[in-house]
Amino acid sequence: MLRLVIVGASLAGLRAAQAARAAGHEGEIVMIGREPHLPYTRPPLSKELLQGTQEIEDSALQVGELDVQWRLGTAASGLDRAGRHVLLADGSEVRYDRLIVATGCRARSWDGPGSELGGVHTLRDLEDAVALRAALASAQHLLIVGAGFIGCEVAASARALGVDVTLVDIASHPLLPFGPQLGERWARMHRDHGVDLRVGVGLAGLGGAQRVEHAELTDGSTVVVDAVLLALGSVLNTDWLAGSGLELNPAVVCDSTLTTTSDPDILAAGDVAAVPVPLAGGAALRIEHWTSAAEHGQLAGRNALLDPAERVSHTTPPYFWSDQYGVKIQALGLPALAERIELLEQSPEDDRFIAACVAGENMVGIVGVNAARRLPWYRRQLTHPRPLAEVKLQLTDEATTLGAPLAAA
Ligand SMILES: Cc1cc2nc3c(=O)[nH]c(=O)nc-3n(C[C@H](O)[C@H](O)[C@H](O)COP(=O)(O)OP(=O)(O)OC[C@H]3O[C@@H](n4cnc5c(N)ncnc54)[C@H](O)[C@@H]3O)c2cc1C
Repeated sequence: MLRLVIVGASLAGLRAAQAARAAGHEGEIVMIGREPHLPYTRPPLSKELLQGTQEIEDSALQVGELDVQWRLGTAASGLDRAGRHVLLADGSEVRYDRLIVATGCRARSWDGPGSELGGVHTLRDLEDAVALRAALASAQHLLIVGAGFIGCEVAASARALGVDVTLVDIASHPLLPFGPQLGERWARMHRDHGVDLRVGVGLAGLGGAQRVEHAELTDGSTVVVDAVLLALGSVLNTDWLAGSGLELNPAVVCDSTLTTTSDPDILAAGDVAAVPVPLAGGAALRIEHWTSAAEHGQLAGRNALLDPAERVSHTTPPYFWSDQYGVKIQALGLPALAERIELLEQSPEDDRFIAACVAGENMVGIVGVNAARRLPWYRRQLTHPRPLAEVKLQLTDEATTLGAPLAAA
């Protein structure tokens, strides 16, 4: 009976354990997690939990009667592949037959002047969200550094709470992977909601007595603040794999079955894994999206029980959503690869649309705004790069739900 060990007790890790049990695995499963909590879901941390429309317990993922040994509050500190065991920070060892790496990533830190002051936050874990929520209850002016998804979502949440927000990014527009055309739209959305958005500007330093009181920006301007969120992206939790010989790129490099390229007994899943994506011509990419982490986890849990030759590939295109100011933004595929954006469907009021992300002749991604019902159709088109003209021909035969003429084919 195989002993399955999963390192990282969050979304991908939990789904792996559940899938292994659902597939009939009767051997031991050990879940090792650095955080003291049972698995919880992160998307509400920048949205509902921050706005106070959900409580901490609402973020819990359903664990049910799952038969696993939990080793929570204990980080893995090393991997001994020859001895087939995981080393833990408390000095103990956990032997495995099959191992799933699901350690995700953490918020990127910043160690510039004033980074040690009170009132300076990052956001990845539950405790971060609880601390930021407490800060927003009394804050007058929040500075957010980084207009990626987390920065933009927190801007929307803070505005909903009536907090003044300055949002800065060194890039020329928010949500960089969606390109400049859509970037202008996102910029307008934030400004329309009262955010002081400054693009092409970074953080030079923070100042204050013990708590942050002001921020110096790279354009020489000063902003008076009482809270700061550093939303600078993420760093992989792969430190514990140093010296293990697993191929890192810097994510854990896997084949399409989520098996690491270095060791058939070790698989990886979720934010930490680089997996070949058919839409990218099979390049191994890291996708930091909730749905990919859940899908990876499920597949890794099943595949870990099989011989390598029997393992199944992950093929579904990446999917991502974000909620800001009541607007649902959804993306399929790889918008970051796009050379241009082409509007495909649009409501007469322009509050709902679907845009194709195009590289060369091919559609490599879709961005939808308030168009959730149209997404499943596009998802089916996006398993591989397809000529946009072909997709548009098919579209003209379809009754669309957005109620407006299609862009000219
Ligand atoms: C604030 C926020 C909002 C988000 N909103 C959205 C959204 O709206 N839509 C969307 O698609 N995606 C969203 N995401 C992304 C999504 O939550 C992630 O893609 C998902 O959590 C990845 O799951 P994972 O299990 O791979 O990694 P993680 O959730 O990062 O879990 C990894 C776990 O491993 C643990 N760990 C790390 N190192 C070790 C170690 N050495 N030993 C043991 N345990 C370790 C970590 O503590 C963590 O619990 C959001 C993320 C954040 C942070």
